[in-house]
Amino acid sequence: MTTLIIKFGGTSVGTTKALRQVACIVLQEDPKWDHLAIVVSALSGVTDDLIRCTQAAVAGDEQSYHSIVAGLRARHHAVVHALAFANDERTQLLRSVDEYMDGLAALCRSVHVLGEVTARATDAITSLGERISARIVAALLRQHGVRSQAVDATEVIVTDAKFQNAAPLMEETRARVQERLVPLLDAGFVPVVTGFIAATQNGVTTTLGRGGSDYTAAIVGDCLDADEIWIWTDVDGVMTADPRLVPDARVIPVLSYSEVSELAYFGAKVLHPKTILLTVQRGIPVWVKNTFNPTYPGTCILRDPNSSSATIKAVTAIEGLSMVTIEGRGMLGVPGIAARTFSAVASQGASVLMISQASSEQSICFVIPTATVSPVIRAIEEEMALELVRRDVDRVWSMDDVVIVTAVGAGMRNTPGIAARIFGALGRASINVIAVAQGSSECSVSLVVDAEASAEAVRRIHEEVILDGEGGQRSTGDP
Ligand code: ADP
Ligand code: ASP
Ligand code: MG
Repeated sequence: MTTLIIKFGGTSVGTTKALRQVACIVLQEDPKWDHLAIVVSALSGVTDDLIRCTQAAVAGDEQSYHSIVAGLRARHHAVVHALAFANDERTQLLRSVDEYMDGLAALCRSVHVLGEVTARATDAITSLGERISARIVAALLRQHGVRSQAVDATEVIVTDAKFQNAAPLMEETRARVQERLVPLLDAGFVPVVTGFIAATQNGVTTTLGRGGSDYTAAIVGDCLDADEIWIWTDVDGVMTADPRLVPDARVIPVLSYSEVSELAYFGAKVLHPKTILLTVQRGIPVWVKNTFNPTYPGTCILRDPNSSSATIKAVTAIEGLSMVTIEGRGMLGVPGIAARTFSAVASQGASVLMISQASSEQSICFVIPTATVSPVIRAIEEEMALELVRRDVDRVWSMDDVVIVTAVGAGMRNTPGIAARIFGALGRASINVIAVAQGSSECSVSLVVDAEASAEAVRRIHEEVILDGEGGQRSTGDP
């Protein structure tokens, strides 16, 4: 029994031209696998529009949210018309689009009246894009003779109630996959599952976080014990840097799970960071491929690739961060300061991206999203109230507008001098490194730099340790 999961991202389903390409890819793969399941994102930009719509409703800007709803309705109608469906199919699809858009307008009206929006309501609204795209893709496949059915992941993926960033409950999800997807697959259908969205045990819609459709593919892949997962996107694969930032970035042919996890965690948008958490358990290979250049092999992500000898494979940057420092001479040798600091941070639900402690033990610094800085500092000051009075801790302060730049590559483990080369390259460009940390898996090194210097830092590191090494292959694609 062979099983393939194919995920198509927003740009891959964003235009009629792209959708036709999707149909070609599915038609080509369908006969080759016993079971084939598709996961789709919303049409490109639709989730952003839904969020803008919600924000306009909160702000009481009725005109703006009405015009966004009208724009979304028109865009989906235009795609349905352009795909030249048979009459019944077209009528049915247009009716679905209208129902969802009427629902959206009603939700926005409620948000407008209340003047605020809960995370739960936001999920109800942002889930609409995938609900529509899955129906369009399933209809398109039927038009091409593939037995296909759209499936709302709210019926399949069960999560906790952490709206906007829900975590799957795998046991319940596995049971639902057996109930809902396996019979379809056994009957020769290709289910088209909505990415990004899920539901609580009580059926309330949740979402898995921005870019979460990759994660949906991994969840479905894990539950179906897939042989492979293919992520189709708008670039030739995982690249040595964000191609928008570094024009001469190259495609990386092979990556390990830990390398790609570091890369995704530290900002490479091409894959949702949680995708690999699941595939690693069963060792499912993940391919990243370009819908607009389908013959290009793309990037293969495996547990233990032994092919590439490149030391550093990629450089990424993650923005919108602040560095919090807690400092004081009295901290020297006092046990428990770090533990108490981080439990105060955790009490605010802030995720710490990087920690670095000076060897003198007179300061601890860590990097968190800027949005969480104020409550975190307050919580630490409360926790350290006594130490602050005694002057064991002098102050807790933050530096805003910083970026973490991370260089990733398993070969770093055995290669001395990499950090020196990185620092040398940044020094020559007069870029100041504010803090440094090495990933625990020893396959990454992260530097904190000023946001203004971030793009240049990425380019300099890329030039120094990737273009000079064997970090990838030149992309031939034209997204
Ligand atoms: P999709 O809608 O297909 O999920 P995304 O926009 O989420 O696509 O992710 C693909 C984009 O990620 C690319 O267009 C590229 O601009 C960006 N990106 C950032 N870093 C990288 C990287 N290291 N390799 C490839 N793409 C990257
Ligand atoms: N449509 C969702 C988003 O834009 C999920 C995804 O594209 O993966 O975040
Ligand atoms: Mg994505």
